[in-house]
Parts: sequence; structure tokens; C-alpha cells
Amino acid sequence: MKCAEAITIFDTTLRDGEQMPDVTFSPNQKLELAIALQTLGIDVIEAGFAASSAEEFSAIELMAIQLKDTGICCLARALRQDIDIAAQAIRLAEHTRIHTFIATSDIHMQHKLKLEPQAVIDQAVSAVKHARNLCDEVQFSCEDASRSDFQFLCKIIEKAIDAGASIINIPDTVGYALPQEFGILVRGLIDSIPNADKATFSVHCHNDLGLATANSLAGIQSGARQVECTMNGLGERAGNAALEEIVMAIKTHSRQFPYATNIKTEHLVSCSKAVAAAANTQPQLNKAIVGKNAFRHESGIHQDGMLKHSQTYEIISPQSVGWAEHQLVMGKLSGRNALLNKMNKLNIILPSESDFDDYFHSVKRVAAEQQVCDNTLIRLSKKY
Ligand SMILES: [Zn+2]
Repeated sequence: MKCAEAITIFDTTLRDGEQMPDVTFSPNQKLELAIALQTLGIDVIEAGFAASSAEEFSAIELMAIQLKDTGICCLARALRQDIDIAAQAIRLAEHTRIHTFIATSDIHMQHKLKLEPQAVIDQAVSAVKHARNLCDEVQFSCEDASRSDFQFLCKIIEKAIDAGASIINIPDTVGYALPQEFGILVRGLIDSIPNADKATFSVHCHNDLGLATANSLAGIQSGARQVECTMNGLGERAGNAALEEIVMAIKTHSRQFPYATNIKTEHLVSCSKAVAAAANTQPQLNKAIVGKNAFRHESGIHQDGMLKHSQTYEIISPQSVGWAEHQLVMGKLSGRNALLNKMNKLNIILPSESDFDDYFHSVKRVAAEQQVCDNTLIRLSKKY
């Protein structure tokens, strides 16, 4: 049997995710989360940006020493000094990667870097060459790639591959891309760059238009074989592409995405909870996969369907991502079947069958005003 082609899951919760306003992880929290991410099956963990502070350096070093089943990557600007610090921080890891980057869009080159395009290429090439001698593999990113000139991207990526980069990351840094266009960009680069076959292409999408997952999937369909993401979609502004969404989209649509990942999806919820606790930020209630409501059903029509066959209203099973089970929630739109099911679970027996109608309506009256928990159902049943 032919094995499915692998997609590398590159988690940047501890680097880009931590750039979310008001989120800071201590070195110990980073280590705990990194262990949870390793258990989840992440291929490469971007542990942080070592040159940013002494504490960050120590946290990355700690992870490099402790984690043996995942690659450890450190971010570095395309500067010799940053790269040296990154190399030092990850030197004890089993699999080491330096991720160096430089901006390639006109707006970033002119206003932020204040460099001519040729100077940007020269800086990128010398950074990649320097990093190449200091770690197992070098990843090069064109910051703001989705707003960069296509021919310029082709040129700088070709030079970066020649200089020794084996992973080329195409970020939609500001979440500007549309899925179809982003797919065309990735495909175009792979098809146009003469030495593209010597590198793995990667995508890194932000969620400013709510399209981070869609753009990441478009990148994969266009030939990217690494995807960068964060747990719970943590990240700057509207966040990064959510790991759990990408992984479950690939798994759910295995015909369109005939690729294997190493993610043990039954650990997604526990990993999400660990990240949420450390970040002190819960995912929104209706967040796909890991939100509290992702497998809760309130409407009577849906509850009735669920009781007859769970696939009527669920495309993945809650257990497959680590939830105990789906929940039928009693609300003002809930139906009789769901209430009967709840009564069975809670062992509520009314004195007479004829009491059920009255009980049902009293539950609905309460539900119109407030949340109905199991204790409320038990309390309301006591009056019969
Ligand atoms: Zn980013």
C-alpha cells in the first residue's frame, strides 16, 4: 500500500502565539506547553526568538534539552548576531532548525527596512549561509510574501535555496490573502523557481479576514508540505491559523487532502486547555473543534436528529478530538426527545406519564430566562 505523503505540522504557539497582546509564558510554562505539543505529535516546535531577551534564551535552551521527539526551531532576524544567539539556544536539541526571515514586500523594504531590493537579497543570502553551518536545517521566510512582487520573491527564494535553506516559508503576514490567490501564489513559486525541488515549501497564515485556515489549506493543495499554525489560533491581532482546524480539515476531507500528519487528534482538547490556561485566554465559545460549544446542541430539531444518529449534525466525533461526548443542552428551543434523554441520564422518574407535558413546559419556561443545568432539571421534577 502506498503511504500518504506527509505534511509537517510546525507549531508556533510559543513564538508567534505568544506575540498575542497580554499573553506571556514563563520558561516553565513554555516547557510544559512544549511537552503537551510534543505529546500531540507536533513535528517542529518554534520555541521562540532567542535574541529577544535572556529569559527567552533560557526558555528555548530548556526546551532544547528536554524535548527529544520533536524538532526545535528558533527564530532569528537575518542578522549574524541573532543567528548566533539562536544557534546557541538550540545547540543541545536532538533536531535543530534556525528560522531566519526578512521582509520582501515593497512597503516593508522601503518603510521598515529602508533597504534596496538587492541589499535585502544580499542580507538574506548571507544570513542563510551563516545559519547553515550552525544547525541541522535552515528555514527562510519572506515576511509579507503575499504582498510582495512575484518576480522578486522568485529571485530571493532561489538565492536562499542556493545558500542552503531547505524550508521556504511563504507567510501571509498581515492576513491579506484570499484562498484562491494564495494557492496560485504558492503553486506559481514552486513551478517558477528553478531549484524549488531542493526545498520544502511552507505556509504561515494570519487570520485578519478570518481566512487563515482556508489560506493554509489552499497552500497545501498547491504544494506546500509544511504548515505553520498555533493552538487555539493564538497570535497577533486576529491570530494565526488554528492548528486544530487545519489538522481536522485534512483528516475530515482525506480525499481532497490525501496527506498524513503525526497529530494524535485525541489530544487536541487537552492541549488546547493547557494553552488556554497558560495564556489566560479561553477560545471563543463557538470556536471550531476546541470551543466549549463545538459539540453542544440546543435546538430540538438538531437534538432529535442527534438522538437518532450522531452524524446528522456532527461531521467529526467529539471523542476523536478529546471531548468526552457531545452534549444536548436544554434551552428554550429544545425538544421533548432531548428532555426524555436527559431524564434517563439523570434517573428522573415522574410519578405519572401524564406529568411529562407539564414538566416539559416548566423546563422551557425556565430555559427562556436562564441556563438549565442538571440540578435545575432535578429540582423541577421534585414538584410532581
Ligand atoms: Zn506570523
